[in-house]
Amino acid sequence: MPPVFTDNSYARLPDRFYARLAPTPVTAPKLVKLNGALALQLGLDPEFLASPEGVEILAGNRVAEGSEPIALAYAGHQFGNFVPQLGDGRAVLLGEVVDTTGVRRDIQLKGSGPTPFSRRGDGRAALGPVLREYIISEAMFALGIPTTRSLAAVITGDPVIRENVMPGAVLTRVASSHIRVGTFQFFAARGDKEALKLLADHVIARHYPGTQSYRELFERVIERQAQLVARWLGVGFIHGVMNTDNVSIAGETIDYGPCAFMDAYHPETVFSSIDQTGRYAYGKQPQIAGWNLARLGEALLPLLAEDQDAAVEIANDVLKSYGGIFGAAYLAALRRKFGLFTEQENDAELAQSFLKLLADNGTDHTQAFRRLSDGTVRGLFEEPAGYDAWEIRYRERLALEPQDEATRRAAMLAANPLYIPRNHKVEEALAAAIQEDDYGPFERLVAVLAKPFEERPGLEAYAAPQSADEARRYRTYCGT
Ligand code: AMP
Ligand code: MG
Repeated sequence: MPPVFTDNSYARLPDRFYARLAPTPVTAPKLVKLNGALALQLGLDPEFLASPEGVEILAGNRVAEGSEPIALAYAGHQFGNFVPQLGDGRAVLLGEVVDTTGVRRDIQLKGSGPTPFSRRGDGRAALGPVLREYIISEAMFALGIPTTRSLAAVITGDPVIRENVMPGAVLTRVASSHIRVGTFQFFAARGDKEALKLLADHVIARHYPGTQSYRELFERVIERQAQLVARWLGVGFIHGVMNTDNVSIAGETIDYGPCAFMDAYHPETVFSSIDQTGRYAYGKQPQIAGWNLARLGEALLPLLAEDQDAAVEIANDVLKSYGGIFGAAYLAALRRKFGLFTEQENDAELAQSFLKLLADNGTDHTQAFRRLSDGTVRGLFEEPAGYDAWEIRYRERLALEPQDEATRRAAMLAANPLYIPRNHKVEEALAAAIQEDDYGPFERLVAVLAKPFEERPGLEAYAAPQSADEARRYRTYCGT
């Protein structure tokens, strides 16, 4: 049964929200990965999607029934500089489906050819970044972190030219929507208040039902963004390119480019080759999210009040809450990691001193929390004296908890993953696929990461960090 797009709400917005165009066909489409479970959740037929006709749709060679393909317009601050027009330069929204839980989801092809927003780009994606996004977005989902999903990866048969010639590929991405902070900025920069209002109303209906005012919309976006970044920090995720065009208004992780997971805990960790100044370092992410939200506040000004000064006052007033909301979300995430069910005054300090021990010792973030959960973390410290002192305080703190030890351990093992997308494992999977057309390592990695909290024998290599030396040299590249 082919997919049918029955109700494309974004395509009903005015023409200036997008450009209408079909994906550009490719030479020899071949399916390399289909997410069958996700297809079923979306009410799509995995068997059809894997059939030659289905693959033609996933490659952009055939337009499905009811699909009204569009490339979305948006703007954005890239590394702090405002670009008034970005837009989907290599992606096309095929349409929307309502999934089996009643949630409306966008289905988009990424790497589907040039659009009016391509600027100098070729509109295409290379296989490596497509598989990388597949692996990491699905890992984030399994970790319980709001994210876009990956439905399929198709190779095109057409080479793309990057640093080297690479196989081209198309990713089918699924999102609550592809509306970004930069979408609001696009219309704000044009002084198009009518479009801003239409967009805000669309976002309220779709993502924040029940919202009574644009001020409240801003508050709710801030809440979700704060929650999201708190969850990122909890698993050591570094987005790598938190430009405002890469910030989903629905609060999902979106636009996986040079992202990576940190090994040894250090707030200054950066992997992205294009992030020379560490603007988007691990520990900067909360602050940057606040900066991005301030840009959203600016874009929303015309909707907040008729009078400009009054609007600025409202925006500032709302923005002031971000620090507190983020702090609370982060502390809640930390409490879960430390197995603390109750709230005590010194919890933040206790958590921070553990993190400082990790930073001082170059200890692996994921392993440290996992082994704190099973009681074997001491062995990770070469010089355990500092840890021993900390542990005395931790034990005193745990004595204030009503839960018994078994309950706490179980909760901690369900909050602290054993398997994350380790950089060397991701690279190994991509290299085998690209160089040898061998998708075994990719498939195995995806399967391991689908159950990140469940220890299974024989998977030790997936839980091990790359060496400190490798980690220092590791660089990620933008998906372009
Ligand atoms: P990104 O850094 O991937 O979030 O992309 C930033 C902007 O560049 C977006 O407008 C993209 O659509 C555009 N872009 C990225 N790669 C390409 C490409 N290969 N061809 C055309 N546009 C691209
Ligand atoms: Mg982007």
